[in-house]
Amino acid sequence: MKDKTRLESILRSIDGRGYKAYKDIQGVYDFGSFILYIDHVQGDPFAAPSRIRVLMPQEVAGFPATLYSSRPRRKGLEDYLTRQLAKNIARFVKGNRGTGKSGQISVISTGQEMLNRTSVIINSTGIEARLSMGLPAQGRRVLAGQAADMFFIELPRLVERSLVYRNLDGEGLEKQVNLAEDQWVLRRKIEEMGLVAFVANGSILPRRSGVDDRPLQRGAVPFVSPPELEVEVGLPHAGRVKGMGIPRGITLIVGGGYHGKSTLLRAIERGVYDHIPGDGREFVVTVEDAVKIRAEDGRRVEKVDISPFISNLPGGVSTGAFSTDNASGSTSQATNIMEALEVGTSLLLLDEDTSATNFMIRDARMQALVHKDSEPITPFIDRVVDLYQQLGVSTIIVVGGSGDYFDVAHRVIMMDRFTPKDVTKRAKEIALEFATHRRREAAGLPICITHRCPIPQSFEIEGRKQKIKSRGLDNIQYGYTNLELDDVEQLVDANQTRAIGDIIRYAVKNYVDGKATLREIVWKVHRDIEERGLDIISPFKGLHPGDYAQPRPQEIAAAINRLRILEVRQNT
Ligand code: ADP
Ligand code: MG
Repeated sequence: MKDKTRLESILRSIDGRGYKAYKDIQGVYDFGSFILYIDHVQGDPFAAPSRIRVLMPQEVAGFPATLYSSRPRRKGLEDYLTRQLAKNIARFVKGNRGTGKSGQISVISTGQEMLNRTSVIINSTGIEARLSMGLPAQGRRVLAGQAADMFFIELPRLVERSLVYRNLDGEGLEKQVNLAEDQWVLRRKIEEMGLVAFVANGSILPRRSGVDDRPLQRGAVPFVSPPELEVEVGLPHAGRVKGMGIPRGITLIVGGGYHGKSTLLRAIERGVYDHIPGDGREFVVTVEDAVKIRAEDGRRVEKVDISPFISNLPGGVSTGAFSTDNASGSTSQATNIMEALEVGTSLLLLDEDTSATNFMIRDARMQALVHKDSEPITPFIDRVVDLYQQLGVSTIIVVGGSGDYFDVAHRVIMMDRFTPKDVTKRAKEIALEFATHRRREAAGLPICITHRCPIPQSFEIEGRKQKIKSRGLDNIQYGYTNLELDDVEQLVDANQTRAIGDIIRYAVKNYVDGKATLREIVWKVHRDIEERGLDIISPFKGLHPGDYAQPRPQEIAAAINRLRILEVRQNT
């Protein structure tokens, strides 16, 4: 390790030289209160910024051990410190100091979710922050004076204000850490109580806009549980919390258009993740393996057994091992369900807004006109009970348009001006009063899940460079293939998408052997991450992976399933 004055003198010696001269500063420097690792120096001012790490010993940082004594608390703390770094970068870093990315310091972006991230790592010995830094240049010439300001003024100030406990808002910090623990406890408690989702009274569900995930500020109607569904849960920090508990089984959310049905479902969808204080959904919690199901026409499908929903396709196309490069609305929705069952889920979430109508329902009149022999689809209404009875998989489904579902629902929640009412009794009466006269199709037939083994060769990327690169939230460039994830709705953070790209590489290297099923593969990767940390998926040794957020096994599988070059063998 060199002294920081050494960094100063190197910088002085390369001032005005070509950008490549910056490579000389790579190394480890003692800054007194912290150690600076300059791990990777960018090749030019427009390239991906340089990667640095700051390591502060716990004697200096001074975080009480209770703040990181358990998994959920540590996650809450690391997430809080990541946000603190971002805030202080905005305050203390001047930013643009020349060409390209000159002058920038950055930490990964964050949204409303508290996720396991690689940006800050804390334990009893110390705290490590992973940052990116655009080393300043004029044209392609080193601006050493500006670089010195970044290293010796901005960085120490940033570190001092973001990573030293006594300089932080202790109350705000503790609030988030406690909340992370409460949410963890709540998610476990609802399972013990036989619930699949919980929405606390007072929650703010609507968001500011379709592109702004923060809570709606004006005119938001706070959530109030119907008395019939109200339950109370005791939490370690928040104490007693009351709200709507949705039990296992089949739950309908009905109501007029624009009354808040989809908003409620979306909050439940996101309840698989923890949320930051002030989000409005702090105590909206769902079982962690819940999967949102939607129609996704155009998607690729690789040998999925969709026969529980679809059979006898025209042209004799097999549905026991259904493959297509261009799925229809109904076949894509059936695929999404079967793939969710394959990876493992106990709760399906469906919204009529994003479902294929012919997949959801076929009424008596249509049954009379189109004979079953010429209709390949067994609608969801006829399988939702089997899913629950045979596999224990619950469903929450938004339907404003079809009362036929009253027959199969265990409970019916009506959204009325953004407030839920329990209308189960009335719906059941109506179901008796007005018979639907429809025949149940395929009732009780077994729903078999056919597991699939990905073939290693199918993942091979042509070309010299094995390139896997994520672009934003919804896209991963996998070699020459573009992996589209727009319709994977529970993928919420672009850093999760980045992680998925590298997880696929990691999975292929370690677990895809042609014999392991997709389910085994994603859960093995998940176990590795849980046991050894998210860093392990990074393909670059010696270069900090500070820009990952952890995805669920469900989203990892969803990505692999959508890879257009994927080939599998059915495990029969
Ligand atoms: P639906 O699915 O029943 O047609 P949405 O859930 O799409 O209705 O909601 C319609 C509109 O009302 C959306 O703009 C949504 O943001 C807003 N909204 C939903 N819930 C609330 C609420 N609790 N308070 C205020 N506005 C809400
Ligand atoms: Mg809707």
